[in-house]
Amino acid sequence: MTDVFADLVGQDEAVATLRRAAASAAALLRAAAPAVARASGGAGPAGGDDLDALAEEFDEPAGAARDGADGVAPGAGMTHAWIFTGPPGSGRSVAARAFAAALQCVHGTGCGHCPGCHTTLTGTHADVRLVVPDGLSIGVNEMRALVLRAASTPSGGRWQVVIIEDADRLTEAAGNALLKAIEEPPPRTVFLLCAPSTHPDDISVTIRSRCRLVPLRQPPAGAVAEVLVRRDGIAPDVAEWAAAAAQGHVGRARRLARDPEARQRRDAVLAVPRRLTGVGAAFDAASALIEAAEAEAAAAVAETDESERAALQTALGAGGTGRGAAGAMRGAAGQLKDLERRQKSRATRAQRDALDRALVDLAGFYRDALTMALRAPVAPVHTDTAALAAAGAQKWDADGALRRLEAVLECRAAIEANVKPRIAVEAMMLALWKG
Ligand SMILES: [Zn+2]
Repeated sequence: MTDVFADLVGQDEAVATLRRAAASAAALLRAAAPAVARASGGAGPAGGDDLDALAEEFDEPAGAARDGADGVAPGAGMTHAWIFTGPPGSGRSVAARAFAAALQCVHGTGCGHCPGCHTTLTGTHADVRLVVPDGLSIGVNEMRALVLRAASTPSGGRWQVVIIEDADRLTEAAGNALLKAIEEPPPRTVFLLCAPSTHPDDISVTIRSRCRLVPLRQPPAGAVAEVLVRRDGIAPDVAEWAAAAAQGHVGRARRLARDPEARQRRDAVLAVPRRLTGVGAAFDAASALIEAAEAEAAAAVAETDESERAALQTALGAGGTGRGAAGAMRGAAGQLKDLERRQKSRATRAQRDALDRALVDLAGFYRDALTMALRAPVAPVHTDTAALAAAGAQKWDADGALRRLEAVLECRAAIEANVKPRIAVEAMMLALWKG
């Protein structure tokens, strides 16, 4: 079983929904095929009436989905806007891509082998557009351009698919541009949005009301370990440790299992509780955590930054000696500035993501101490620091462990609310030390 849904770990319910939708989308295309063929053979422009009829059929209310026999009645189970929600690492974008592939699959199933599946999964399908914000937000210009292109007739004869990763980072104006497209969708366009939740902070209520929801859950550690062994060939004991340490985040588990630097960074974070011996040590630990996040982020974006700069310079004719080169350079300053602004925004995002990963690891440690103090029958997140967590549980008791866990969670919330990371982390370290 290596179809496009194989990598969606521990999400049986979501996969069943998506399979049903893909099957009914394929049935819709089959039902429309003779009509479209007639229309394009005739004199009229692109068979407008038939496509409108298709759009209406397609627009059935969500409740009608259950009525279709086996979910393959044309229209049933399929709709033009979807939201994939779930905690980070649960596979929101994996699910969206898999569904996109199933929609473009020549067999209509997401077989994983045909050109439609293959080009979608490798990111080269002409009718699948992927928006991955590399900065803090997705702007209105980007969204307008996208919506415009998504309205065109699919070149492959199936669907135009737009995947928006991190739809929670849409600016308000960009959200409105998207909403307009979702409210009056072109007949063959499908929007796939990914967001942490359907909370109004993440996605506007009006967009939410127009979309069908696919909730993903945090996959159990056992399922994550299984996929690491099966797909990545990782040794079972390493896979089990990494799956537990990554707390259900599949990508993070894979990195921990494979990347020694990721393991070192995690070790350094988990050494923090031991190092908090006084006020000075707390400030030192805060500095170390911030600087480690900065270094990790800088390494992560350096390569892309450099290749983007080089590409832009080539495009602008830098190093060229022709008569056009001097003229091109005059307009270049603005474009370079624009690129630098985008790169800075991406670097900030990467720093926050790195810091957040560290805070999640740290929260896992105090959560272990708390469950041990309560003698709760649950497995520890960090098996390799379980002894240290047990010592903490004894020293702090459940109340003290809970206060420390809350300090870490408050720090995450503060950074999310735009408190300067250094200030939030220093406050947290002091709270962790004082207890
Ligand atoms: Zn296929």
